[in-house]
Amino acid sequence: MRFSPQDEEFRRRLRRWLAENLTGRFAGLRGVGGPGREHEAHAERVAWNRHLAAAGWTCLGWPAEYGGHGATFAQQVIFHEEYARSGAPPRVGYMGEELLGPTLIALGTPEQRRRFLPPVAAVAELWCQGYSEPGAGSDLAAVATTAALDGDEWVITGQKVWTSLAQVADWCFVLARTDPGSRRSQGLSYLLVPMRQAAITVRPIRQLTGTAEFNEVFFDDARTGHENVVGEAGDGWRVAQATLAIERGVATLGQQVGFRRELDALVDLARRGPAAADPVLRDKLARAWIGLEAMQAHALATLENAAPRTGSFGPGSPGTGSPGASGAEASVTKLLWSRWHQALGELAMEVLGAPSMAARGAPYDLDDWQRLFLFSRADTIYGGSDEIQRNIIAERALGLPRQARP
Ligand SMILES: Cc1cc2nc3c(=O)[nH]c(=O)nc-3n(C[C@H](O)[C@H](O)[C@H](O)COP(=O)(O)OP(=O)(O)OC[C@H]3O[C@@H](n4cnc5c(N)ncnc54)[C@H](O)[C@@H]3O)c2cc1C
Repeated sequence: MRFSPQDEEFRRRLRRWLAENLTGRFAGLRGVGGPGREHEAHAERVAWNRHLAAAGWTCLGWPAEYGGHGATFAQQVIFHEEYARSGAPPRVGYMGEELLGPTLIALGTPEQRRRFLPPVAAVAELWCQGYSEPGAGSDLAAVATTAALDGDEWVITGQKVWTSLAQVADWCFVLARTDPGSRRSQGLSYLLVPMRQAAITVRPIRQLTGTAEFNEVFFDDARTGHENVVGEAGDGWRVAQATLAIERGVATLGQQVGFRRELDALVDLARRGPAAADPVLRDKLARAWIGLEAMQAHALATLENAAPRTGSFGPGSPGTGSPGASGAEASVTKLLWSRWHQALGELAMEVLGAPSMAARGAPYDLDDWQRLFLFSRADTIYGGSDEIQRNIIAERALGLPRQARP
């Protein structure tokens, strides 16, 4: 990818800002809060994210009229690269900024944008994603949570599961069935629901890493205003799909810079131990390096194709300011990174050898490599499982016959 002199100036300014600001009370946040460590230093990370927001480093791709900065595609790429390179912690406002915000910019009402976008940009309200249910994961159209209008409020009943960061979220975008006799993708609505009410119970789910990043969420006649439906009532499937398309946008590039840091650290580790003399491990490390290069080239090419020549809107996310790859290309990107990252975790265990099999201390004190290995088991599941990505590639890119649907 080529960057203009203005882009390079943007990069220098951002790099300088990060170096000058990840200091003092924020110095300890470098490297904190990665996979399996989402519980760490939450309050400090919120303060850091608000500091970023106050300096104008959130919602870069959003149009200025919605509190964004109208940054070009190249500048968004640079932001994600530099942010990951600096070691700054994952952004706690990710779901509001990258998923809900662009969805509202594309499909929300002017009132919804006025009410919900400023607190996202300022990191004053955090969001979570309420799609999956015990009976609806890959088969999302099986959503059974219901919502019915009672006067001027929606009353929501049902259960969501695997809801990441629900324990800290102020709001949830919920996919619920609002048309009682409807089936599959018909009759669903996309509702914005306040999390802090007695009718919502959040129960943490403990993961392989020993931590609890995601949750079960129970709605027992929970309420939200009638105006908090995005798109038309009954048109929630289309809105939910728009959010999913955005999910695989430009932010994946920052993730890959994080991958590069992990791979570099693993190569360092290998150099210092017996793995350096093992030709099979050396070969696997070289393959990992090549895989990452290929993945990065693919992501850049597809995202750049999706971004228009001028401005920052991409067809993957119409009018959202956040370029996104669409359809089968996004599925190839997801498949490439999920398999690569899971293999990296496995390779780390090989490089460490036998000690990788024991925790450092009681009761369950894992090091970063063990956490990476265990957490990356989830990579091939969330955001759409590998099997589902292969189905999409088969049907939409290769034109193979459609899989039989229930
Ligand atoms: C770490 C993590 C965070 C998550 N965060 C959130 C969140 O914040 N909000 C949210 O709503 N959800 C979240 N999820 C849920 C995630 O979206 C689902 O786990 C995912 O969609 C798979 O659904 P499932 O778990 O019900 O598995 P299932 O759909 O039951 O799938 C089970 C297995 O069957 C395979 N399978 C299913 N259907 C097919 C098919 N048609 N063809 C071939 N194979 C198939 C799958 O690939 C999988 O291997 C999260 C999940 C994880 C692991």
